[in-house]
Amino acid sequence: MKNEMKMEFASQSENEGFARVAVGAFIAGLNPTVDELADIKTAVSEAVTNAIIHGYEQQPGKVWITCETDEQEVEICVIDNGRGIADIEKAREPLYTTKPELERSGMGFTFMEAFMDEVWVASAVGQGTRVTMKKRIGRE
Ligand code: ATP
Ligand code: MG
Repeated sequence: MKNEMKMEFASQSENEGFARVAVGAFIAGLNPTVDELADIKTAVSEAVTNAIIHGYEQQPGKVWITCETDEQEVEICVIDNGRGIADIEKAREPLYTTKPELERSGMGFTFMEAFMDEVWVASAVGQGTRVTMKKRIGRE
């Protein structure tokens, strides 16, 4: 069966926990394993943190999440209309960060790729960023 949800929230760090729990609750019906659920929640946290910290640079803004499920397939989009990414390929490299002063380690995209089956990044400078992540659950 197909299912979907959409949510919008303010780009504030305290909403990161809400976002991960909300997505986790939505996909709980697909009976993911504990590990799969943790992987998806971590990937969502990384993408949402990026939207808040890099997209909006902690200025007011909105973050959108859409989540579509089809049988055991989960597709999650995390969207901001913040500053965008100039060089997506470089941004996805392990240890690459533009905010070392905030003690970021440059591992967010690497974690998303490790925890999800597929990750696509679409971004335009001055317009925003959309991270789309897919994972098939219930295989292990
Ligand atoms: P970490 O996630 O380990 O705390 P990080 O956020 O810098 O560090 P990544 O999540 O891998 O590392 O992101 C790499 C870089 O990509 C960021 O430093 C930032 O320059 C850019 N970036 C990522 N997401 C966005 C976004 N939504 N908007 C603008 N820039 C982004
Ligand atoms: Mg990050």
